[in-house]
Amino acid sequence: MPSLELEIQSALEEIHAKHKDNQSGKVADYIPELAKADPNAFGICVVTRDGQVFEVGDTEQQFTIQSVSKPFVYGMALQDTGRDVVQQKVDVEPTGHAFNSIIKLDEKSHRPHNPMVNAGAIATTSLLTGEGPTGKLNRLMDFFGRFVGRRLYADMSVFMSERVSGHRNRATAYLMLNFGMIDNRVEEILDLYFQQCSLLVTAKDLAVMGATLANRGVNPITRERAIEARYVQDLLSVMYTCGLYDYAGEWGYRVGMPAKSGVGGGMLAVVPQRLGIGVFSPPLDERGNSVRAIRVCQDLSTRFGLHMFDAWLNDFKVAPTVESESFPTAEMDAVKAAKQEHS
Ligand code: GLU
Repeated sequence: MPSLELEIQSALEEIHAKHKDNQSGKVADYIPELAKADPNAFGICVVTRDGQVFEVGDTEQQFTIQSVSKPFVYGMALQDTGRDVVQQKVDVEPTGHAFNSIIKLDEKSHRPHNPMVNAGAIATTSLLTGEGPTGKLNRLMDFFGRFVGRRLYADMSVFMSERVSGHRNRATAYLMLNFGMIDNRVEEILDLYFQQCSLLVTAKDLAVMGATLANRGVNPITRERAIEARYVQDLLSVMYTCGLYDYAGEWGYRVGMPAKSGVGGGMLAVVPQRLGIGVFSPPLDERGNSVRAIRVCQDLSTRFGLHMFDAWLNDFKVAPTVESESFPTAEMDAVKAAKQEHS
């Protein structure tokens, strides 16, 4: 392996070893089936824009995608109906509130604040087109299949478990029906939403999906286009501002990349033009984000200079940067040294 590749692989191994014994956090149990997840399962995968795969740990273990599905369904709704229709039903404002916050519909417009909280995600799902419930589900599975490069299947136990226990989501959906944000197919819309959340993926799948977004919508392994290039920016923007719920601000500040977490323990992060990261580790912090996944992404960001606004400092370039032309070397060295100290 050439040296950069070796460096990425050994960084993943080090980071995995560093966090694997961290026992903080709690596996989600508000959907009863999710409580069965193994708290020790832990996998990290990085897929580059040119299709190289680096992985360590439980990267082939399946788990339900949960909220990591939300930006993708948002993209599908944009493709199906266009920006204007989607904008009428869901805004793009961060809430600073929890993922399942029920009261957070905009006071004037009654729109959900963004497609990453449950209300916005349910509204987005309601916009998908297709022949009846089965046609819509098939289209949704095909759509995800192109991102991943294989057909995905739903975990029926998790789906049923959420269907019978998802009272809060049901209440949210009825509230949106009241305000005309969704139509009256409430149970059908919820079923499709619960099905999208129960799709089974692996950490490696998430990394490939992230790399597809990093590669402007073309899966770097199958070379198939998964989404129209013009909508990639929409997905990445809402992931950056709203992807980690009430931790989104701090995440943007510390880690600095568009990302989405799910209560199944998955985390997907994107470094546009460069790579996708997929992490799986079920124990969650009090905000519903995977404890180990947050730390992994933070370490990767620092180690390889992946923060969006720190890009000119990184050693992991895909294109020439300003460094050589306009950044005096001595100044550059000083900034690098300060950064080292900081990390
Ligand atoms: N299906 C979950 C719910 O609607 C997704 C939540 C999440 O992953 O944050 O409650």
